[in-house]
Amino acid sequence: MKLSDMVTDVLIVGAGPAGLSLAINLGKRNIPSILIDQKPKKEIGYKPCGDLLAPASTRRLFELSGINRPRGEEIAQNLDTAYFRPSENFEFQFPFPSLAIDRLKYGQRLLKSLVDYPWIKVYSKYKVVETLIKNDKVIGCKIRKSDGNHVNIYANIVADCSGVIGIVRRNLNPKVTSKIPNKIQKHETIISYREIIKTKTKHRFQKQMRIEARDELPPPGYFWIFSKGIDTLNVGTGWLINDQNKHINVKEALIKLRKKFFPDAEVIDGAGDTLTGRLPLYSMVANGFITCGDAAALVNPISGEGHGPALLSAFYASIVIEKAIREQRSDERALWEYNITIWNLYGYDGGLGVAVQKLLNAIPFSEFAFLFEKGIITQKDVDAIMDSYDAKIPVFGKAIKLLQRPKMLIKVIKTLYLAERIKKLAQKYPEDPDYFAKWQKKIMRLEKKKI
Ligand SMILES: Cc1cc2nc3c(=O)[nH]c(=O)nc-3n(C[C@H](O)[C@H](O)[C@H](O)COP(=O)(O)OP(=O)(O)OC[C@H]3O[C@@H](n4cnc5c(N)ncnc54)[C@H](O)[C@@H]3O)c2cc1C
Repeated sequence: MKLSDMVTDVLIVGAGPAGLSLAINLGKRNIPSILIDQKPKKEIGYKPCGDLLAPASTRRLFELSGINRPRGEEIAQNLDTAYFRPSENFEFQFPFPSLAIDRLKYGQRLLKSLVDYPWIKVYSKYKVVETLIKNDKVIGCKIRKSDGNHVNIYANIVADCSGVIGIVRRNLNPKVTSKIPNKIQKHETIISYREIIKTKTKHRFQKQMRIEARDELPPPGYFWIFSKGIDTLNVGTGWLINDQNKHINVKEALIKLRKKFFPDAEVIDGAGDTLTGRLPLYSMVANGFITCGDAAALVNPISGEGHGPALLSAFYASIVIEKAIREQRSDERALWEYNITIWNLYGYDGGLGVAVQKLLNAIPFSEFAFLFEKGIITQKDVDAIMDSYDAKIPVFGKAIKLLQRPKMLIKVIKTLYLAERIKKLAQKYPEDPDYFAKWQKKIMRLEKKKI
């Protein structure tokens, strides 16, 4: 060990929502930790994003651990309604209270709140370049500092909160674990590009989030328009990569749509990034290792919502980390409970998302227009579904009309059935790592099912 090297209980890699939430929650639990990010301090929080935050996640986080929700200038606009436009001639809407936020401002406030916990040290412009492993355990990370020098940070537990890149996870070796994939496969990845635009006058989408199918986009892509203020919008597109769409340039596709629908708008910011579009990692812990947020593949594969899951997963990670550190343990078994919690929480969303993505790959959006144009699903049905959790999509009552499209009917039924089976299996996550292999085999078999 060099003199400049550091030692801590928990090394948190990445100061996005997951890393910040973990640092604050470990701060509250008096666990000495180091939080690092490759970015300069003043850029922490910024990220190309749709900027929507479902209030349920932050409300829950506040209830669980007192982390404040976005407020004041951190909220660009309070949205109230979601609109879906599956075809040119049909759209439906439902109440959808959510926040369009300024990610940089919210991230900066969470970062600044760490001053309340002097045992949490923060280092910016620290980039992880290597995962340090001894025998079968993660023991820290090698960091490159902005001056080009390297430093090793050793920790009992390393938390990978580095986003979709999973910089610590990708360097794990089979001696540490064979339960965690190093690589997220291309077909499990969503490419996405978004712009923040300013319109010349008040735009007509105040307080709205809109998802629209557009012929210009390859399946299963969609165009989003999220209001961010009187004359400001977040517009973007993205799709789960497949063999047919992998060569299409997502940035060009978005620019084309923006020019068509907002020809006079000024572009304030344009940037793209990738998201995971798969089930949560089968396991998110190993000896000396845990992972939260995008690094653990917790993004909803359909809506792309990942901010809330990043904040919340880190809260749950803090519980198991505290227990493990207090018991002077850091082995896989000591952290295992986290897998059970997260799969119970996000397994169904992931399962439904994966199943619907398969459906959209098999049947393009435009085909679904049929469901609405023939009145198989109406605005009234949507209202009923939103009013009651028990209401089911009223497909079966109108099956006669659907029988005109038997292929679609079968595929819709298969989709719902697959999501249900994944949900059931998610709820049966093995209590003991010894039973993991059998469970993994079952979930992988379901994942491979064709719609
Ligand atoms: C185009 C787009 C639109 C989206 N829209 C929405 C939306 O509307 N609503 C929503 O809820 N979610 C949305 N998401 C997803 C959301 O942005 C993520 O789920 C969320 O940011 C995940 O948080 P995280 O902390 O896990 O990772 P990140 O926010 O990615 O943070 C990871 C951090 O790790 C740091 N890091 C990475 N590598 C290293 C390294 N080697 N060394 C040190 N630090 C490192 C990064 O600098 C970064 O600060 C969108 C994503 C994209 C790409």
